[in-house]
Amino acid sequence: MLITNATVVTWEKPNRILPDHAVAINQGMIVEIGPQAELVARYPQDERLDARGQYVMPGNICAHTHFYGAYSRGMAIPGPAPADFPEILKKLWWPLDRSLSPEAVRYSALVCLIDAVRHGTTTLVDHHASPNAILGSLDEIAEAVDQSGLRAALCYEVTDRDGEEKSQAGIRENMRFIERVRRECPADGRLAATFGLHASLTLSEATLDACRDAAPADVGFHIHVAEHSSDEYDSLQKTGMRVVDRLHKHNMLGPNSIVVHAVHVDAREVIILAETGTWVTHQPRSNMNNAVGVSAVEGYMRAGIKVCLGNDGFSNAMWEEWKTAYLVHKLWNHDPRRMNGIDLAEIAIYNNAALVETLFPQVRIGSVTPGAQADLIFVDYHPFTPLTAGNLPWHILFGFHESMVTATIVAGKVLMYDRELKTLDEEAICRQALSLAPGIWERYQQQF
Ligand SMILES: [Zn+2]
Repeated sequence: MLITNATVVTWEKPNRILPDHAVAINQGMIVEIGPQAELVARYPQDERLDARGQYVMPGNICAHTHFYGAYSRGMAIPGPAPADFPEILKKLWWPLDRSLSPEAVRYSALVCLIDAVRHGTTTLVDHHASPNAILGSLDEIAEAVDQSGLRAALCYEVTDRDGEEKSQAGIRENMRFIERVRRECPADGRLAATFGLHASLTLSEATLDACRDAAPADVGFHIHVAEHSSDEYDSLQKTGMRVVDRLHKHNMLGPNSIVVHAVHVDAREVIILAETGTWVTHQPRSNMNNAVGVSAVEGYMRAGIKVCLGNDGFSNAMWEEWKTAYLVHKLWNHDPRRMNGIDLAEIAIYNNAALVETLFPQVRIGSVTPGAQADLIFVDYHPFTPLTAGNLPWHILFGFHESMVTATIVAGKVLMYDRELKTLDEEAICRQALSLAPGIWERYQQQF
């Protein structure tokens, strides 16, 4: 396939913007980028996809999300509003995830995937919980991902909060899915697996040992860490150690593992995360919504931590997360110089792509270069000031909007063109998702 009439944003380092170019794609990979006239002459037989002068750039990546949270939209929480993050877990997320059936798991994923295709997010790292539908839940999500054509890394969150039988079932679901991906999915495919853990505050020493024993050495863990200070104090009370020290003792950190949030870690924990090469994901919309504080990610990067950007279940519109990060660090620190656009590009473009290359070791991702996966979006943006490779982050922050994404392509397959979805029937999926909602909300309410 040949994408013609493109203004290519390569997101190489350094970035380049190439007007009037074409992109040749073969077997899901970008094979050549060149001036329009040259490539049209060189690939006369290729099917054409006209970008009509739009910006053609790598798809956005979400480093941490929860498809299972979709049914929280518009749902009433009974009684007084939760006053802090532990209450939000107990009154919102835990009763909601207990209310999910296998079909609800599938439709939660499908509606989030529609949102991702529409808004140009081509790879997502999901963290799943459905304590009353554990076995096979990752297959439900995997089938939805497969149907959508997007790329995703999945896991099941092991937790002791629903008893030992369910924590064991969570371990088995992770292992079953890890083995299935290894057996059935090509290494350069669109599905990968991590080993999910909820958070230190709902995991015993014995369960952490069981997870470490079960997980293959080269599969990373994906866990919430110090999202709220209660996670640190729970760990200190249970073990005398802070959360990161505790996970390090259990040999769960490293270059394949993802630590989510890290809002309340101390200086020693930052050093451990840096020294072990552990990824840290930042979700500022979620942190603001839960009022847990702001993760000091600029300092973490200076310490050598690879910081990525996720959405924690908020809309799969990653530029919204960029904008929130850009703004909240300024307000939190009373300093408009904080969270520079260059830092955000480092986090959301380069680090997110590097994380995905770790999860999918056989693929190159995140740039428009020969050999990279053809995970691309078209953006219908008409700048009224000069747009250069150098100032692109600020055009994204102040000018781009997800509604400008008109085409989404993953591994060379067109998932949306001219805003028309090609793989998912939005109307039918939303109708079915909506028909499941009353039952889910009823099961949720019955727990109070
Ligand atoms: Zn999360």
